[in-house]
Amino acid sequence: MKIHEYQAKALFRKYGVPVPEGGPAFSVDEATEIAAGLGGYPVVVKAQIHAGGRGKGGGVKLAKSHEEAKEYASQILGMTLITKQTGPEGKLVKRLLVEKGCNIAKELYFSVLPDRSNAKICLMASEAGGMSIEEVAAETPEKIIKVYVDPLLGIMPYHTRALAFKLNIPKAGMKQFGQLVNGLYNLSMEYDCSLVEINPLVITKEDEIIAIDGKVNFDDNALFRHKDIMEFRDLDEEDPLEVEASKFNLNYIKLDGNVGNMVNGAGLAMATMDTIMLAGAEPANFLDVGGGANAEQVKNAFQIMLSDPNVKAVLINIFGGILRCDRLAEGVVNAAKEVGLNVPVVIRMEGTNVEIGRKILAESGLQLISAVDMKDAAIKVAAAVKS
Ligand code: GDP
Ligand code: MN
Repeated sequence: MKIHEYQAKALFRKYGVPVPEGGPAFSVDEATEIAAGLGGYPVVVKAQIHAGGRGKGGGVKLAKSHEEAKEYASQILGMTLITKQTGPEGKLVKRLLVEKGCNIAKELYFSVLPDRSNAKICLMASEAGGMSIEEVAAETPEKIIKVYVDPLLGIMPYHTRALAFKLNIPKAGMKQFGQLVNGLYNLSMEYDCSLVEINPLVITKEDEIIAIDGKVNFDDNALFRHKDIMEFRDLDEEDPLEVEASKFNLNYIKLDGNVGNMVNGAGLAMATMDTIMLAGAEPANFLDVGGGANAEQVKNAFQIMLSDPNVKAVLINIFGGILRCDRLAEGVVNAAKEVGLNVPVVIRMEGTNVEIGRKILAESGLQLISAVDMKDAAIKVAAAVKS
């Protein structure tokens, strides 16, 4: 799960990580009110969307007066912000963050992320922080510093010292830097974060170290133990069909192709996607109804898939184990009758009660294409999208 920058900064404050004074605004009036309360200009007006690259896209502006703050707030709020991470369709800005501006002397990069290949936590940093960190990583990888922490031993003073020396942190900022690194490490561990990132982490002309950007991503599988984070969820920023699917405990990921793909079990889902590609078509989604799905879940899954306008044909590939083939067939028939079939549907199923399942499908009166095995199913669905 992703959250907004202002929410990430609320967590930073909780862990003693210095951030600029300021707060979120949902209207231009609120934004100017916050700006006026900061005790002077410049202030920074920032679009809050779940995507980076806002600076280059015109979503971050430094206002030198009350008038400018008002002008920028009305410009940014309601704009469709297009950045490298939003895709060409952009993202409508519904929230702002208004903060006190700071005197930047240097922009660093800092992040905390699990490194699965060596089962450690990686503290990643660079002196070349700012808006072009992706280019730095690609062109001059030697400028990226990595320090690994064994999560069983925890973070030690030598980790932060190693980072501080390599980043040339000024002496006056050493203590603050140590607190910051510790705070971010603890935040990452306590909240099961898949990423905590600050870009830029700035050193000010006054030798203060401040996080002026913030990104925190959480491991979805651990969210059940962080109920306080759930109130940060912003459904406006998520794909509507993925939100709908998550309500029914379905694992649904939207993809770029046009073959709807409904499968039970992630392994089977991947194998099915490969087979669809081999047959010359492209999956429109990854929809795993789970090993223990019931007819109701099958119905919901089917509805979600058919409501995606990109789906030109559907392949249902189910191995009937706990989810018996007759239940699957019932779910498909009910859903098809309720929503109406607007595209060809190919079904391949195998396993428990497959004969009863086939009978239900055959007697339903629906135009379903049955397949004998996976290859046959993929070829039939690829032919269906092409015709
Ligand atoms: P991003 O482009 O989405 O990563 O948004 P950032 O929060 O990183 O802001 C983009 C850029 O705006 C930063 O790299 C800074 O150079 C600049 N910026 C942000 N806040 C301030 C500030 O308080 N003062 C100044 N001078 N520049 C700022
Ligand atoms: Mn940034």
